[in-house]
Amino acid sequence: MRKIIHLDMDAFFASVEQRDHPDYRGKPVIVGGSPSSRGVVSTCSYEARKFGVHSAMPLCEAGWRCPQGIFLPVRLKRYQEISGEIMAILREYTPLVEPFSIDEAFLDVTGSELLFGSAEMIARKVVERIDEELNLPASVGVAPNKFLAKIGSDLKKPRGFVVIKTEDVIPLLAPLSVSKLWGVGPKNQEQLRKLGIKRIKDIQDLPVKILRDQLGEFGEHLHRLAFGLDDRPVLPRQEIKSIGHETTFQKDTDDREFLEEVLLGLCTRVARRLRKSDLVGQVIMIKLRDTDFKTITRQTTLYYPTAFEEVIFKYARRLAEENEWGLKPLRLIGVSISGLQKNSAVQLPLFSEVRQEDLHRLHQTVDRIKDRFGEDAITRGSLLPKECEKKKI
Ligand SMILES: [Mg+2]
Repeated sequence: MRKIIHLDMDAFFASVEQRDHPDYRGKPVIVGGSPSSRGVVSTCSYEARKFGVHSAMPLCEAGWRCPQGIFLPVRLKRYQEISGEIMAILREYTPLVEPFSIDEAFLDVTGSELLFGSAEMIARKVVERIDEELNLPASVGVAPNKFLAKIGSDLKKPRGFVVIKTEDVIPLLAPLSVSKLWGVGPKNQEQLRKLGIKRIKDIQDLPVKILRDQLGEFGEHLHRLAFGLDDRPVLPRQEIKSIGHETTFQKDTDDREFLEEVLLGLCTRVARRLRKSDLVGQVIMIKLRDTDFKTITRQTTLYYPTAFEEVIFKYARRLAEENEWGLKPLRLIGVSISGLQKNSAVQLPLFSEVRQEDLHRLHQTVDRIKDRFGEDAITRGSLLPKECEKKKI
């Protein structure tokens, strides 16, 4: 029997906005555009839902239902970036991760249980990490197949955690609307309604022959789903586009030493994530936002891809320097790496400015200690850049 997890982020775009802008937390956030524009609500926070706002509602309607709402444009690039970070966490538990949309994924953890504990424990861990590391809420469903796992993640949003056991499947599905069945859109729903079928129970009670006669193959498909049967495999895709971290300061600052220390910390986190996912990256990008909210991003492409913070930091700092960081106090810095490939697919250079072999050994050891004793178990004795210069890395 398979062990499948479906992860679905809660009010994803709105949650990202609330995470990036702490003043929006606990408030009705409506992502989609201004209430005077013609579009529709893309996502809204749970606080906004209390006012009757929901996704796909015209923005002007959301405007009069929730006049105090914080209306924001869709920042797709940002959401994609975070989506990549979520997928990277998931891939630490199984290579069988199928991103289903920007904020949803299936994981087949059947083969991961020996390593990481039961599917339920893995699901807990994943949600906890997304909460702690990315500061975002998610719901999960754990079940023997994709269909049921997705049903599960939807049952108790937000922050839902639903484990579906085989023996509970039929009663659990019975009261749900047929629209929950995979492939049933508004058109089929109407068609089914004409046959007197509204809830999944109505399908469970019908002989499969009637469904087949009325709806052909689709009827058979619905009958199987109504009993919780689904044998589609989880199909992994390599979809991480970048891995990044950023920090907003409590107080704007131009203290160079402090900024470098923070940058190194960010590079270390990025590098560790790369190594955990067995990836290397080649394009390093920094983001600097100054006290006037002016944001610049700059990037550089490495000759050889890397997964080491020493290398990432060296180039990230160079980019920051070339762009005169500290000219104005900064309120945010960030670093990310893209151009990702599987580490195993990359050949190490014979000659390079960084002794890759040495770094590789060093990081293997440090990572092992961190895996065992936690992220804070080991840290640099003295922070770069002095150290960095000394070693010429
Ligand atoms: Mg979602």
